[in-house]
Amino acid sequence: QRALITGVTSYIGAHIAQQLLEKGWYVRGTVRTQAKGQWLHDTFKAGDRFETVEVKDVQKKELFTEAVKGVDYVFHVASPFFLTSTDPYEDLINPAINGTLSLVSAVHEHGQGVKRVVVTSSVAAVAQPHPEDPNYVYTEADWNDAAMQIVEKEGKNVNGGLAYMASKNEAERAAWRFVEQNKAKFELAVINPVLVFGPAIHHVAKAEDLNTSVAFLYMFISGAKTTLNPQAPFNNYVDVRDVAHAHIQAAVLPEAAGERFILSAGGFSDTLIASIIKKRLPQYADKLPKEGWNEKDLKPKTEADNSKSRKVLGIDYIPLEKSVVDTIESIKQFI
Ligand code: NDP
Repeated sequence: QRALITGVTSYIGAHIAQQLLEKGWYVRGTVRTQAKGQWLHDTFKAGDRFETVEVKDVQKKELFTEAVKGVDYVFHVASPFFLTSTDPYEDLINPAINGTLSLVSAVHEHGQGVKRVVVTSSVAAVAQPHPEDPNYVYTEADWNDAAMQIVEKEGKNVNGGLAYMASKNEAERAAWRFVEQNKAKFELAVINPVLVFGPAIHHVAKAEDLNTSVAFLYMFISGAKTTLNPQAPFNNYVDVRDVAHAHIQAAVLPEAAGERFILSAGGFSDTLIASIIKKRLPQYADKLPKEGWNEKDLKPKTEADNSKSRKVLGIDYIPLEKSVVDTIESIKQFI
């Protein structure tokens, strides 16, 4: 089987590529930076089963014309994920929406062999706040359309987190709309992960370049975090290896076509993560914040329903302890 992965140099994209290569697939990945692509060639050592092609700007549909030819499946992973931005449209919303639209329209026009496109969306496209019900459990029926409404109201001054949520919600909406309106021949499936932990295998030159979700864990061992925050809404996690596996299952299983899947292993809290580090990686105990430890947070809430992903995709979720330990083992060189 042959796959195209956009953003193969990303934290999640590199894991999808690795798992596909282990299964004997041919993988083509789009890259913006050659050095990051070379790192993956050196890591995978997959010979001619792994190739990279340059797509500098995902918003330019014509750059995907050749990339989508001759593959059976496409994984659209590339999309900006950071939470601080001075221009939410320029930095987050436009690349997310236009990147998705240019990819699906290139597949529609030139990817005759593509059976299915799997889009990496996010729980950001699901979890519209429900302040009236603190015990609300999100399912795949939920959408976060409110995020874009807030962005439109607040304009450039909107907070980066909200702009990111809007970017993911609107990009996913655009993908479903495109398939419906154009009666696309390829099928669509969507993955909606919560915050992703687990080992980083992609190219990271320095700590400042760590992707957003791994950087969150890095703060616990770098000394940058001064206090453990109380349990907050939507502190749910999933391991990157489960995320990659779910993408592949969503591509090949007939019953996954036309579906979206929340991926969540359960809740986490700062106190729980710090406790795991203290117990399993005691060499970093003195870097952990002294403030904010709270017994109450040791049993964090699960806020998303993962039953569909378990039932349809067969995901057997990696526990938090393994996920946290393996993440930190993979980034300890930056300390
Ligand atoms: P990364 O930051 O490692 O990946 C982001 C990817 O998108 C990179 O390949 C990056 O390219 C590419 N990219 C970013 N901005 C642009 C742009 N303007 N134009 C073209 N490409 C761009 O993080 P993740 O691996 O975590 O993110 C991958 C996907 O997973 C994203 O769609 C993200 O929204 C989604 N996601 C991530 C979660 C998480 O907790 N990590 C949770 C839910 C969803 P380059 O490699 O060249 O920098």
